[in-house]
This record gives sequence, structure tokens and C-alpha cells, in this order.
Amino acid sequence: MKNIVLFGPPGAGKGTQADVLKETYQLIHLSTGDMFRYNMKNNTELGKLAKTYTEKGHLVPDTVTNEMLKDEVTRQLEKSPNGFIFDGYPRTKDQAEVLTAFLAEKGTEIAAMVALEVDDEVLVGRLLERGKSSGRADDANETVIRERIAEYYRKTDILKEYYQAENKYYGVDGVGSVKEITHRLSDVIDTL
Ligand code: AMP
Repeated sequence: MKNIVLFGPPGAGKGTQADVLKETYQLIHLSTGDMFRYNMKNNTELGKLAKTYTEKGHLVPDTVTNEMLKDEVTRQLEKSPNGFIFDGYPRTKDQAEVLTAFLAEKGTEIAAMVALEVDDEVLVGRLLERGKSSGRADDANETVIRERIAEYYRKTDILKEYYQAENKYYGVDGVGSVKEITHRLSDVIDTL
């Protein structure tokens, strides 16, 4: 199995690239953001809880997120996939540790963290633009967008060091056309 963490701040292009890469490498795309949005749309208990965090631009607590992610991986493993693209997870050190231990239990591991690098002001511009059509409440408000980016620096950015320590970190320039960026990511993934 080839498991990849597609990493980067909000608006870096993780979802867009994951949609392309999952086809190329026949991987299962797992987005915790999508899982929360599905639950919010269907007004489940998990969705109601998640909304109180996402609407402020804050991360949902680790225990909730980890359980949701593990349930989904377990369900998807029954299909004997080639591997996973993790998009938007892990986002804290606790999540990274849980993921490492959980995958080890399943006899697999993360092959690489591939990070899309994009300047903050470019991110804000992209997210405001996306907000015009995404229907996402957290894309519609600049204060919430900036809080999501701040949350990334508070809790998530340090994960680079976590994967660097395992020699699994690869940074890629996340500015350019979708195609150019896909090429840069594929160049890394092909070496794994
Ligand atoms: P995203 O679509 O990845 O930008 O996620 C949207 C929102 O869902 C985030 O701002 C968080 O509130 C929540 N979320 C998504 N993934 C995670 C995660 N791994 N840990 C905690 N909260 C998350």
C-alpha cells in the first residue's frame, strides 16, 4: 500500500490535487473536512458538534476527529485499496501519532508527507474566491479564513518536523496551474 499525506494550509489546493492523484495512482481520497461537511449537511450529532468549531475556523477536537478517521479507514480497508491519500488529516501532533499507531496495527504506514507551499496572502485570496461558489460558510468570511490559517500555524505546521524526523517530508511549490502542480507532486510520488 502507498499511503500519502497531502499537506498544506487551507487553500493550498489539497482537495483539487487529491482528486487528480487518486485517479492516477488508484488511491482512496480521505478528507476529514469532507467527512465533517457531510455530517453537518445531514445534521448528525457529529455534524452539530463539528459545526461549533468549523464555523469559528477552529479544529474539531482530536478525539472526535481520530475516531471518525479510524472508522472510515477501517471501512475502506475492506475493499483492499492500493492506499490512501489523506487530505486535511493529520492536523495535530496527537493526530499524527494516532495515525502512525493505527496504520501500524493494520500492517501499513505513511510513505510520505507531500506539502503544498503557498504564501498566506495567496491563500486568503484563493479562499475568498472559492467562497463565491463553494457554498462553504468557512470560505465566505475573511475573519474565519484568517483564523483557519492562524490555527494551521498554531497546531498543524509543526507536523513538517514530525515527518522530517522520519525522512518522509517533501515540499512542493503550490503556486502555478493545476497541471503544473500535479506534475510536481507526481515527481515525488513516483520515487516512493
Ligand atoms: P478542510 O476542508 O480540510 O479545510 O476542513 C474544514 C474544517 O473541518 C476545518 O477548519 C476544521 O474545523 C475541520 N477539520 C477538518 N479536518 C480536521 C482535522 N484533521 N482535525 C480537526 N479539525 C478538522
